[in-house]
Amino acid sequence: MTENIYPLTWQKEDFHIKVFCSIPNIATGILIQASENYFIVDPGDGILRDLNTEIGTKNILNVSDIFISHGHHDHVGGVWTLLTYMRVMQKITPLTLHFPKGCKEIISIHNAFEQVYANSIPYKIILNEIPNSDEFKSRQGLLIKPFPVIHKEILIDGVTKQQVPAIGFTFEHKGKKICYGGDTSYCIELENAARGCDLAVIEAGHDTHKKGPDDMHMTLSEAKKIGESAKEYFLVHVPE
Ligand SMILES: [Zn+2]
Ligand SMILES: [Zn+2]
Repeated sequence: MTENIYPLTWQKEDFHIKVFCSIPNIATGILIQASENYFIVDPGDGILRDLNTEIGTKNILNVSDIFISHGHHDHVGGVWTLLTYMRVMQKITPLTLHFPKGCKEIISIHNAFEQVYANSIPYKIILNEIPNSDEFKSRQGLLIKPFPVIHKEILIDGVTKQQVPAIGFTFEHKGKKICYGGDTSYCIELENAARGCDLAVIEAGHDTHKKGPDDMHMTLSEAKKIGESAKEYFLVHVPE
């Protein structure tokens, strides 16, 4: 078991990433900075506290994009908090939520937020429900390529596994590229996305008590194999 001491930070020129934490079933929280622009990735519980310490209110209000890999609580637990904080603190600039097509959690959180605060939301929320792997650019010029990953959950019968809407991303800024796989078991899409990247942030969330692949997370050796195909890598989401 590798032990990660959070936060994990990485920087190449004016492209930074900080992983505040990434603990399965607890919380994830990632901040990317490209030039003077900030982007949030998988805001789990605790994200507002971490962002407030790291960049302060003014910069939080300037965040233009939040990227969500999938709807599990350890990746979206802070979305309501952020939307509400931005309302209370009077964010003016638009906010885009990027999430995989069919991610009911984000759609529901957004609907509830619009309903509860109907006429008192000072900023525009744009939903980007990502249907495929087409590359796109954020308003600030960050180049994003989503890719599908394999991440299943067990239904109430305790046996049936069902794929959840789940994606990973590569983020590219001035020729430097970061790959973030989100939660995933070993898959060719992640293999291809991570290869040659300047940094790969790879989950190794497989429960070591379980034998064999579980279609949810990668083992340490699977994660390392993918990580080593990038120039540098972090292993995250390792069970504590
Ligand atoms: Zn997770
Ligand atoms: Zn998950």
